[in-house]
Amino acid sequence: MQKGTICIVEDEEDIRDILSIQLQREGYSTIAAASGEEGVRLIREKKPQLILLDLMLPGMDGLDVCRTLRQDKEIKDTPIIMVTARGEEADIITGLEMGADDYITKPFSPRVVISRIKSVLRRGSRSSTDATGLLTYGPIVIDLPRHLVHLSGESVDLTATEYKLLAFLCGRPGWVFTRQQIVDSVRGEDYAVTERSVDVQVVGLRKKLGEAAEFIETVRGVGYRARELT
Ligand code: CA
Repeated sequence: MQKGTICIVEDEEDIRDILSIQLQREGYSTIAAASGEEGVRLIREKKPQLILLDLMLPGMDGLDVCRTLRQDKEIKDTPIIMVTARGEEADIITGLEMGADDYITKPFSPRVVISRIKSVLRRGSRSSTDATGLLTYGPIVIDLPRHLVHLSGESVDLTATEYKLLAFLCGRPGWVFTRQQIVDSVRGEDYAVTERSVDVQVVGLRKKLGEAAEFIETVRGVGYRARELT
């Protein structure tokens, strides 16, 4: 069965080839570009289902490519997985804030890449909120209209900020959010939430979640996410 087309933008030929072979084995079609400029051209022409984007490219780099694609109406929603060198957290953060969906650090195994691609493609089509506004995430049930949270049937008393933080993360399990993205989403009208205070809020939230605290994961150097449920 045809699973859709993945575009690989990567200047290292070996990595391009390995990824193409592995993805084709999994049933995906692949197209590949060796530079950012070529990648943008190819993506505009072929409209792939997902883009694997190396950040370190000669000329137009991966962040420029990401920015350009996100401004293009026809491809702004196509998932982008950034490929970065280890230790490039600043670039990862910039990429996520520019609209990339996820990232993988080099060196990686093709198996990890494939499972990440599957997970990103799956996320796009899943919503866990029912018709009455109940968002169910593992043992946590968030009553969105009433701003109430239940954990394994017991009510949990959260502050307004903790509530917003939890609802935001659990609304998109598996997605990594930077502190700035969290600040933008939970910002209240009468209190200041800063990037630094996000960490304090997470500590408070985890305490109240008890055993379910493990569902709120720290992504070192980058931000936080609600663990992906499998
Ligand atoms: Ca590179």
